[in-house]
Amino acid sequence: LASTTQDDKTEVREYFNTEGFNRWNKIYSDSDDVNKVQLDIRNGHDQTIQKILNWLQADGTVQQQTFCDCGCGVGSLAIPLAQMGAKKVSASDISDAMANEAKRRAQALGIRNAEFYTSDLESVTGQYDTVTCVDVAIHYPDEKMVEMIEHLCSLSKDRVMISFAPKTWYYVFLKKIGELFPGPSKTTRAYLHEESIIRDALTKCGFAVQREEMTATNFYFSRLLEAKRV
Ligand code: SAM
Repeated sequence: LASTTQDDKTEVREYFNTEGFNRWNKIYSDSDDVNKVQLDIRNGHDQTIQKILNWLQADGTVQQQTFCDCGCGVGSLAIPLAQMGAKKVSASDISDAMANEAKRRAQALGIRNAEFYTSDLESVTGQYDTVTCVDVAIHYPDEKMVEMIEHLCSLSKDRVMISFAPKTWYYVFLKKIGELFPGPSKTTRAYLHEESIIRDALTKCGFAVQREEMTATNFYFSRLLEAKRV
């Protein structure tokens, strides 16, 4: 199992430093150079980010909070969080290319309350009010999820927000079709997750789910949970 995980991580790091960077940097931007599938994924992902920002807006406490965004990509969540006046945003990604692009985008916007660095989320340290991990679990095999959630919880003083692709019969079926017709672009392995495994892991770490959302478009599906320390 350990070697499979290592292979997964190496593969993910390499992918998001090369083809994956080019692909996702375009999806996570307003570039016109995207196909219909990529546009659909962009819209779905935007909805997930907006749902998180809406929750935080409703709470009205962003300015008193520190945030740790694990697997930050190009900063799609970390940058608006900083713009909302978060006390401090600490964002990291296993891919140098993604973390550097996030840093570049933040600098171009004159953001000063966010830092971006390259790190496997399991090597992130510190204590933060809120820990977020959006659409990263898809790169984690089931048997590594509990450990990953335990680590996220250990970084959090108050709240964890995590999103993942849920393992329902319908999505398992879609994924099977996708594997039969993989298309021309190279991609990484993708893992769907049983919601109960994620919930149980959060509960075991002393967190209770407070709010939840599901975002589904044609090619994007993401379950979002917000859990608070009890
Ligand atoms: N969270 C970002 C967002 O929602 O815009 C990016 C989502 S993107 C689909 C997945 C990101 O997770 C990639 O940037 C990838 O490099 C990163 N990632 C995957 N495994 C990781 C790990 N073990 N530690 C840190 N980042 C990881």
